Amino acid sequence: MSDNGFEAVIGLEIHVQLGTATKLFCGDRSQFGSAPNTNVCPVCLGLPGALPVTNAAAVELAVKAALGLHCTVHLTSVFARKQYFYPDLPKGYQISQYDRPLATDGWLELVDAAASRRRIRVRRIHIEEDAGKLIHDRLPRRTAIDLNRAGVPLVEIVTEPDLANPAEARAVLVRLKRLLQYLQVSDCDMEKGSLRVDANISLRPRGARTLGTKTEIKNLNSFSNVERALTSEAERQADLLARGGAVTQETLLWDARAGSARVMRSKEESHDYRYFPDPDLPPLVLTAQMVDRVRRDLPELPEARERRFRTEYEIPGYDADVLTADRDVADYFEAVARDCGDPKAASNWVMTEVLAWANEQGAPVSAFPVPPPRLAQLIELIADGTLSNRLARQVLTRMMTTAEPPRAIVEAAGLASVGDPDQLEAWVAEVVDAHPEEAARFREGEAKLLSFFMGRIMKASSGKAEPRQTAELLRSRLLADH
Ligand SMILES: [Zn+2]
Repeated sequence: MSDNGFEAVIGLEIHVQLGTATKLFCGDRSQFGSAPNTNVCPVCLGLPGALPVTNAAAVELAVKAALGLHCTVHLTSVFARKQYFYPDLPKGYQISQYDRPLATDGWLELVDAAASRRRIRVRRIHIEEDAGKLIHDRLPRRTAIDLNRAGVPLVEIVTEPDLANPAEARAVLVRLKRLLQYLQVSDCDMEKGSLRVDANISLRPRGARTLGTKTEIKNLNSFSNVERALTSEAERQADLLARGGAVTQETLLWDARAGSARVMRSKEESHDYRYFPDPDLPPLVLTAQMVDRVRRDLPELPEARERRFRTEYEIPGYDADVLTADRDVADYFEAVARDCGDPKAASNWVMTEVLAWANEQGAPVSAFPVPPPRLAQLIELIADGTLSNRLARQVLTRMMTTAEPPRAIVEAAGLASVGDPDQLEAWVAEVVDAHPEEAARFREGEAKLLSFFMGRIMKASSGKAEPRQTAELLRSRLLADH
């Protein structure tokens, strides 16, 4: 965003589907992908006389999310009816929480490019049920309704307007997703609608204290769309304000294809919804013991794990960040590092070969066909000089299709590095003699040509020349000639 005298103030509301087997107030399955309107019953259809019963597993996941975000969990919270009319809401109201939410006052740590840390405050987390889904592209000129999602458990996470630009908003979402996946609260799959983001943004003159009028943007179906939509809306508001106009409080719908937002409705106030405590549901009462148990059972959180990777394994901050982005990847790396005793080598192999495989296959690292102890054995073969990096990559390719340990593959295929001095001397001589001009330039001080020669020797030896001895022989030959 260009500096036009304004600064942005951004807050996020994130809806996250809790990974339970069943819905929030009935026994219907909450899983994605069933045939339309098959996971429904009188409760989620809002038929007369049907009574909701709260799903304890959903409450436990919500508490986990709240604790992971360092919130205060309230032992008593209240379910409230949020009333509005929409065709995907058969009851005419959504069961949510209003003035007594499950949890308040948390934070999420944000690390910027300069590695400085800052806390983004979380205002509240409440439990609510999802609505159904309108489907516009299934029947020609008609809209269909699928109520499978109606009653699926969600938490809504609301941040304070602590974000100063669209890139920060995206960074917060990346961190939040990582946290929720670590906690196994949700799969956070945006394509399935398990994570949905609304963003609000206002501008104010740089350095001002008071907040400007905000707009809310909905329909942000990817993190990059969040960033694009906020950038576009900040520019629109800046233009408007610079021309002496005023921003209207309204809800905008982002159109990713057009790259612009359009007005959906003027923003409603909460009193428009006529919230009141749901008479069918008692207050949600938790015991301190239950909250303590969930807290005790929390896994190591990603920030803590990232910090530990940097100190315990002494790997660079960049590596620690990449390796902890996904719990799967972190587990895999850690198993390899412990087995081979060389964390930096483990990090290099995981960040290149293993992650490249995962990206290509679109599969999780836990599905990588080479288990951690085997990769650790391969790294040991490099450390003891049996394999060059290049040969090791060839061995790894073979390891993906066989359960044989790397040493057996090396022996069977004759892939081991050659350390025989006579053979190495012969390769060195052949390559140096073939490039007299480069050899002369090396002697005149062009030290980086050493890697040129090493490359040629590796090629001549099909990657088998043992690198350390070869480098020594090469250097002495280049300097001894003439
Ligand atoms: Zn149901």
